[in-house]
Amino acid sequence: MVKEWKATRIIPEERDRYLSGETDFIDDILITESLRDRPSPDTRRLRDILDKSLSIATLTVDECADLLAVADPEHIALMEQTALSVKKKVYDNRIVTFAPLYMSSKCVNNCSYCGFRSGNGDIERRVLSQEDIHRECSVLAGNIGHKRLIVVYGEHPESDAQYIADSIKTIYSVDEPTRVGRGRIRRVNVNAAPLSIANLGLIREAGLGTYQVFQETYNRELYKRVHPAGTVKSDFRWRLYCMHRALEAGIDDVGIGALFGLGDWRYEILGLLLHSRELEDRFGIGPHTISFPRLVDAQNAPDAHSMVTDAELRRIVTILRLSIPYTGMILTCRENAAMRRDLLPLGVTQTDADSKIGLGAYSRYQDQQEEYRQQFILSDTRSLDEVVRDLANIGYITSFCTAGYRCGRTGKKIMDLLRSGAEGVFCKLNAVITFREWLDDFASEKTIAVGESLIRKEIEEVRSVVSDAMFKEFLESYRKTGEGARDLYF
Ligand code: SF4
Repeated sequence: MVKEWKATRIIPEERDRYLSGETDFIDDILITESLRDRPSPDTRRLRDILDKSLSIATLTVDECADLLAVADPEHIALMEQTALSVKKKVYDNRIVTFAPLYMSSKCVNNCSYCGFRSGNGDIERRVLSQEDIHRECSVLAGNIGHKRLIVVYGEHPESDAQYIADSIKTIYSVDEPTRVGRGRIRRVNVNAAPLSIANLGLIREAGLGTYQVFQETYNRELYKRVHPAGTVKSDFRWRLYCMHRALEAGIDDVGIGALFGLGDWRYEILGLLLHSRELEDRFGIGPHTISFPRLVDAQNAPDAHSMVTDAELRRIVTILRLSIPYTGMILTCRENAAMRRDLLPLGVTQTDADSKIGLGAYSRYQDQQEEYRQQFILSDTRSLDEVVRDLANIGYITSFCTAGYRCGRTGKKIMDLLRSGAEGVFCKLNAVITFREWLDDFASEKTIAVGESLIRKEIEEVRSVVSDAMFKEFLESYRKTGEGARDLYF
């Protein structure tokens, strides 16, 4: 049965319809030549490129390659300061938070860097039932306080598109009492295998938020080596064009990414840039988010060893922020707390917290990681309360806002708003209101103390950026939220 199912995964017409002639948009020669023996740009050229980033325009391959060639420490520092300015201009001091939820450890693929690969005989294989999912989300929404999930599925007939659609509906059905109000998951993002257009339509109708698929590597030779022939995932182009299919299916928030550490990180950055530019050119919509997970150890996975240093990871975040300035950037608990603090100012907009990636791990309330049940090992296992407090202490407000999506601020509309800076006003108001909610429903005394002073500062800033009428309306929503009203937004 699995064999027959695998044979129906790839629809050649839905993969090849976007090609220009015989070629796809990952131009191997262009990438290789752009990286070869490139001199560091002079100060004038560097400043021109950074000005372009500050105007929130996507860079060209040539400009990005120049940033990759910068070696002078002063120039690197200038790039980092500009990345921070770009981030502030588009997203201010907000960090959106989420939790990952792993649904299945069954997978038909055999990726050499992954603990869930079919060749790993030492892992417990399981797919969560709808009851399991409800139990997990009751803890996430009712005890921890998450509002947004990235739900992760292996590629397997037991976790196919219908299962994904059913699980999205189950997640939205959870409604748990909290200290003051109710806890619900308001945004379900999905990380799953590439799907056909019909199946993408099915999960969109179920209420999908962002659809996330990482290419893992844009280097096709390397791709071939780590994704063994005969597996579904070995088809580079089926994966490469899944966001084209998603956009055709009406999903307009798409998330791309690469697994940094498999090969040359500079190659992956140019691959991500080409991918973003292709989506912008063809659909007018670039990636809603870019993820840059660094390869970490995984059980029985021969290629799970990262070749990316901490300093290189700083460069990766900086250059991605500068090259695709409007996009959201996701940093996860793969990185330890110190590294996360270090990377945040360079352009990160979303991060997870209190994450558990073992199957069914949230409802078991266990602190330890369970290697035989999870895909890889996490480095940051702090609670959401600790992370929110830590962020507040360094001036970031954790936003639990999910309003933009529900007000139709998605796809091209959100891109235009982000580019013009107009989205920031709504986001600021909603960040304060959802932060108030979260403090009242879930925060510890210590976090409330730090959070209150941050909120006072934020309210003063709101006063200075909106009209008097809007400020009055905002204060009214804030007051009602303090009295127990929930899910008010602009
Ligand atoms: S990386 Fe994904 S597709 Fe590959 S084996 Fe792991 S779960 Fe399966």
